[in-house]
Amino acid sequence: MRYEGPIYRPPSEADSLLIQATVGCPHNKCTFCMVYKNGPRYQVRDVKDVKEDMLKARDIHGDHVRTLFLPAGNTIAMKTDDLCDILMFAKETFSTLERITVYGSSQYIYKKGIQGLKRLAHAGLSRIHVGLESGDDIILKRIKKGTSSKEQIEAGRWIIEAGIELSLYVVLGIGGKERTGPHARETARVLNEIVPDFIRLRTFVPKIGTLLLAEVQNGSFKMLSPHEVLKETALLINELQASSYLTSDHYTNYINLEGKLPEGKKRLLDKINISLERDEASYRPFFIGTE
Ligand code: SF4
Repeated sequence: MRYEGPIYRPPSEADSLLIQATVGCPHNKCTFCMVYKNGPRYQVRDVKDVKEDMLKARDIHGDHVRTLFLPAGNTIAMKTDDLCDILMFAKETFSTLERITVYGSSQYIYKKGIQGLKRLAHAGLSRIHVGLESGDDIILKRIKKGTSSKEQIEAGRWIIEAGIELSLYVVLGIGGKERTGPHARETARVLNEIVPDFIRLRTFVPKIGTLLLAEVQNGSFKMLSPHEVLKETALLINELQASSYLTSDHYTNYINLEGKLPEGKKRLLDKINISLERDEASYRPFFIGTE
């Protein structure tokens, strides 16, 4: 089995078999992301090689593979025919397979269209992990996400309409002090329009070698303090009407929040209010991420 580049996968895929169908990220421009900044460049692997890797994995893991994640930044960007071929082969190869997932950014999902997504669902794609980051168009432009709130809403709705589960990632504090209010409100607006299965919170940590770290260091981007991040989170949750499962399953967050919306909303807001009584100095210190 072969693997190229950094191993990067959502925490919820910790027990998944990882087989690469693509390498790197075709976008690779987000100002907060360091994952593929030093390569490898985006490539789509030969379907034949991907299938060979699956057969080798079956020799090793036999009937123990329940979930498969096809890693790298935007595997959804590969040709729909080839991805369908890989998905169908995976289902034939691993008889116990219950879930196949990929990462995908809205601009590539949008290019698939609803028909392309329905074909992928039919071939076996069960869940897409999408970095929404923010619903605020000014922030999306500043962080060079390569998409807009309108495109994110349309792509997200198509995923759900196609019968694929949607996991959306939100980065708290990504608008800095200047856009904390619009970030929370616009992100809630977009999430309410999409109604994803999962909303996963991460807190912005500047990463080594990124443009956004340079902005933090030269003072043009002002990071939120722990209390400001918690207040932003409260505003976001308060504005949410979507019936999604919210979780903050990540080491970057100041507190752990988990619950089904809307019924869990009050409990989550109460937990944030209690956390706001804690001294800011008791939260994790500022650090620069290296991975
Ligand atoms: S955040 Fe995702 S889309 Fe943006 S550069 Fe990183 S891997 Fe690519």
